[in-house]
Amino acid sequence: MAEKKVVIVGGGVAGASLAKNIQNQANVTLIDPKEYFEIPWASLRGLVEPSFAERIVINHREYFKKGDLVVSSAVNITETEVFTADGQQIAYDYLVIATGHAEPIPKTRTERLDQYKAENAKIKSASSILIVGGGPTGVELAAEIAVDFPDKKVTIVHKGVRLLEYIGQKASSKTLKWLKSKKVDVKLEQSVEVKSSSEENKTYETSNGETIEADAHFLCIGKPVGSTWLRETLLKDDLDGDGRIKVDENLRVKGRSNIFAIGDITDVQEIKQGVYASGHAQLVAKNLKLLIEGGGKENKLGTYKAQPPISIVSLGRKTAVAQFPFITVLGRLPGMIKSGDLFVGKTRKDLGLEPNVKKS
Ligand SMILES: Cc1cc2nc3c(=O)[nH]c(=O)nc-3n(C[C@H](O)[C@H](O)[C@H](O)COP(=O)(O)OP(=O)(O)OC[C@H]3O[C@@H](n4cnc5c(N)ncnc54)[C@H](O)[C@@H]3O)c2cc1C
Repeated sequence: MAEKKVVIVGGGVAGASLAKNIQNQANVTLIDPKEYFEIPWASLRGLVEPSFAERIVINHREYFKKGDLVVSSAVNITETEVFTADGQQIAYDYLVIATGHAEPIPKTRTERLDQYKAENAKIKSASSILIVGGGPTGVELAAEIAVDFPDKKVTIVHKGVRLLEYIGQKASSKTLKWLKSKKVDVKLEQSVEVKSSSEENKTYETSNGETIEADAHFLCIGKPVGSTWLRETLLKDDLDGDGRIKVDENLRVKGRSNIFAIGDITDVQEIKQGVYASGHAQLVAKNLKLLIEGGGKENKLGTYKAQPPISIVSLGRKTAVAQFPFITVLGRLPGMIKSGDLFVGKTRKDLGLEPNVKKS
């Protein structure tokens, strides 16, 4: 019997994990606009230490050896095929959408590593740095810079009333206090419109009319949900108001028997975390195996239970703030869980790779 065709759209945390897991069970095609998988929560360390980025930018071919890799963006789907921006038409029996967040980043690993080096040079040559956005990316970047380059003046401008709004108030207050202790200036309830003139003059004006002088700036305002490409497709009515795909308890798109969605793109009611995205991938790998085996195993499909709002935000190399179900702590203990290696060795091992990159 011909092998079933599984097409995975998106090679992020969820898509990469599924592709690794299911490659020997079906005829798998992975579609991603770049040749590599990148560990998102470790990228800010890569900005202060570019050699760290070599471990976090991993060519898809390193862990996904068996199936087909299409380096392009998906632009449309029908009930049997996926269409890509470079004109390919890829047939599927089962489709898995894992397009979490979309942002333009380079196509090749070498280009991406060069980008890390350039951003690092920008940090090193600046005496003052403006970070726009106080979500996890802005906070982690500010902390990385404050710890590794304590003499640089770092300012965060955040339009919300508190930092890290995706988790609780306690985590925000503790983080604010810690950042202040590291001399990071945090301006809440303000925004900055970055114009080319502000970059030239190294002067930025906030919505309150305050002036910030900075040699360099970083925009950390969150990436858009990666579902724009689905808006004119057969799944157009399966998106919620935030653009997330509505899924059932088996992580299938509601009402569809052969289309799944996993990771940040889903409307599962939990905070969006890579560890949960990997959990989705594992469940869907099992469900796909059952469906591929056939024999009426539909009623044996695994169901997904939304996870509690646990999150750890690293604050430089040794400290972190962690929200657990009954306690929120900031200090060395949560830092020991995340901040040293940022789960990079573990993520690489999960993909079947050495924790470190061998020097050639
Ligand atoms: C600063 C920061 C720290 C974090 N820390 C943690 C942490 O400590 N622990 C944790 O568990 N999580 C953490 N997260 C969250 C975690 O990174 C996300 O939950 C995770 O990346 C979601 O995975 P995903 O595969 O769903 O989406 P993504 O990782 O966003 O991957 C989506 C993929 O789809 C591709 N794509 C998009 N559109 C298309 C298209 N049209 N066609 C083809 N491909 C497409 C993209 O190129 C990308 O490869 C952190 C996030 C940030 C920003």
